[in-house]
Amino acid sequence: MSLSSMAAATALAVSAVTPSPPSLLPDLGNDGYQVAAYDLTYDVNPSTTLSPGTARIAAVADRRLSEFRLDYAGGAVGKVRVDGRDAAFHLDKEKLVVDPVAAVRGAFSVTVDFTADRAAKVPSQVDDTAGWANGPDGGFAWFGQPDRAHLFFPCNDAVDDKAYFTYHVTVPKGWTVAANGSLVARNDTKSASTFTYASAHPFAPQLAQLAVGKFTMVTGTGPNGLPLRSAVPDPVAAKPMLDQLPSFLDWLQQRIGRRFPFETVGLLGADHAVQQTDALETQTLPVFRAGALAEPQEAPVVVHELTHQWFGDSVGVADWHDIWLSEGFAIYFDSLYSAEHGGPSLADEFRWSYETLDPTARAQGITPGNPTRPDLMFPLGRGTGSLVVYALRQKVGDQTFRRIIDAYLDRYRDGSATSADFIRVATSVGGQDLGPFLHDWLYGVTTPPMPGHPDWTPKPSTPGGALPAPAPRPGS
Ligand SMILES: [Zn+2]
Repeated sequence: MSLSSMAAATALAVSAVTPSPPSLLPDLGNDGYQVAAYDLTYDVNPSTTLSPGTARIAAVADRRLSEFRLDYAGGAVGKVRVDGRDAAFHLDKEKLVVDPVAAVRGAFSVTVDFTADRAAKVPSQVDDTAGWANGPDGGFAWFGQPDRAHLFFPCNDAVDDKAYFTYHVTVPKGWTVAANGSLVARNDTKSASTFTYASAHPFAPQLAQLAVGKFTMVTGTGPNGLPLRSAVPDPVAAKPMLDQLPSFLDWLQQRIGRRFPFETVGLLGADHAVQQTDALETQTLPVFRAGALAEPQEAPVVVHELTHQWFGDSVGVADWHDIWLSEGFAIYFDSLYSAEHGGPSLADEFRWSYETLDPTARAQGITPGNPTRPDLMFPLGRGTGSLVVYALRQKVGDQTFRRIIDAYLDRYRDGSATSADFIRVATSVGGQDLGPFLHDWLYGVTTPPMPGHPDWTPKPSTPGGALPAPAPRPGS
């Protein structure tokens, strides 16, 4: 057996034993079809929480479906049509169950007339403060991650079902709409304005963004001629941060080694009541608390959400238990940004997580590749998932690390990846079988040694006790 075929056999053996933990949010998403495109129309009046809407969904069934389900829990449903014909339907908890006149197979279309209620309260398994982010003046933004997008519109709210989005949103004169993608049309009448936005790359519903506010749109140009468009309520206060956007993108392109993955990007400042997560990586239009964009110390949070455009957005996670592939990289790069701009070194940043958080979590069976509980996936994905990224960088060096992430981001762009996918890419381009190393980091019962830091010692806190809270970090 040649060396290369031995390596291939080892890689196969490793991938064969990579565990696939049970889905963390199994109620999200639906079997039997995938969505290709959402076309969403809303009539928004900020003086009421009710917005009539129509969702036109183009989907493809992978088998004959005499009945199918969408995720929806956002308000009343008026009418459902399938391939243009009225269909029977009923709401069952957070599902819209559709019973078409004729079974669907292959490509089909669903049109749902609904009324979204921005005051709807539906308990989340992860974050009850996510969902509609309502401002004091009736404006709003969306925080759909991870299980709230189906409060905004009927959808297949699965993290790995990516689709193209178009929005047509009518607002009273004086209000402005911001959404994912580019503004492709605006029609004004005496009393109202209709904005049409379209995305050039697909994304999962949880990364959808639609915001209505008294925004100023601030446009500009980023690296390689990238069109920039931000929406902020106070452009004077946000100016220092918006002025840095090209340099944030340039820094990320250099450190990640790849161009920005989408057709445009900008920052959204939302005047909302405090969310638990006050920033979110909604695709091409990450959202922030408006006040945060006026605070220079929030720059790493902006870098964090911009990093997610590569890690988490362009390459999504195939299941929520793979969240380290999103949050781990975002924390790694925002920490690297801080370290290069007067903040703590990476070693100082990661030592506490390595010595305390990670061993305590593993002692309870919670590992970066298997966070085990929905409420743990974000704190652990950030706190211990970023250690996996740091450990990999420490083991292989900067050049190989970049080769690995370049191959990974290229191979799965506009798609989704599992931890096993990442291990396969790392092993195939890393020049060595990284399977056992990553396997130990992602699933091992004890904290592995940290390459380059033999003096770091895992010291789990009280066995079986509560997980220590990771250092508080804004953003998501
Ligand atoms: Zn994040």
